[in-house]
Amino acid sequence: ATPLAVVVGVGRAAEKGLLIKNAEALEKALKAKYVVFDKTGTLTAGAPKVIKYVGDELALSLAASAEAKSAHPIGVAVVKLAAEKGLPLAEPEMYETFPGQGVYARVNGAVVGVGNEKLVEGMGAAIPEELRREAERHKAEGYTVAFVVVDGAVRGYVVVGDEMRQEAREVVERLRKMGYEPVIVSGDNEAAVARVAERLGIRRFYGGKTPDEKAEVVKELRKEGGVIFIGDGINDAPALASADVGIAVASGTEVAKEAGDVVVRKGDLTKVAEFLDLAKKIMGNAR
Ligand code: ADP
Ligand code: MG
Repeated sequence: ATPLAVVVGVGRAAEKGLLIKNAEALEKALKAKYVVFDKTGTLTAGAPKVIKYVGDELALSLAASAEAKSAHPIGVAVVKLAAEKGLPLAEPEMYETFPGQGVYARVNGAVVGVGNEKLVEGMGAAIPEELRREAERHKAEGYTVAFVVVDGAVRGYVVVGDEMRQEAREVVERLRKMGYEPVIVSGDNEAAVARVAERLGIRRFYGGKTPDEKAEVVKELRKEGGVIFIGDGINDAPALASADVGIAVASGTEVAKEAGDVVVRKGDLTKVAEFLDLAKKIMGNAR
């Protein structure tokens, strides 16, 4: 491709919501073998609903207070549930997020955590056997479970479900036809990831990965071939940076500031397939 053709193609793409920040990404994308997807917010809508809450209202109100500043879809769902129940929220005295695990806060003097097993263990709390069994059952159904820990004891849990994006299947199919192998790597539990993978016919998937572990998976796959990683710019930054081509799915308005070589607006995964089509068109039929 001539440099002019590249510039013109990149400009046209930008008009259609496909921001190519690095022209080398076009060539690298053509040579890639794997297309690795994040799950939550990328393959799924990222707007999970609370299917079930087990626990008392005080614990839920503390959990929602802890999650109030979280941008994570699970946090948003927990806050919404508390609002629907008319529960009051308190301003946390201290708040911290643990990517891939959950949130930790001090609310009205209580130490509150909301998140997965890793977070619970990190707080030194134990999950009662019965709760663990119930949680496993929900996870086997493809749901995500977030435990609520208050002052060192598990006080309840939230079951959330996220719908798959309607275009996910078609996009994965298109990529396959182009010769790429789709892979999923997610921070969510193995069972929930397996469920989505199965529905998309994806054989290679990894669950329970922290943001840094996602980057490790990308590096491992790169030993076998080029890797395109697609995820949200916030907690997938390490994986985006580790891939040959990082495609950030942006929800915010400051698209240009997102991590990644390519940025597509959230809500339309078909842009990813369009990017690969465009790469082929601009660079010639190298693939
Ligand atoms: P994915 O890789 O699927 O996008 P994330 O890395 O965003 O998933 O999150 C992985 C897991 O960490 C979630 O499934 C959840 O168990 C836990 N988690 C992360 N953030 C939160 C939060 N704010 N509240 C509760 N749980 C959380
Ligand atoms: Mg995500």
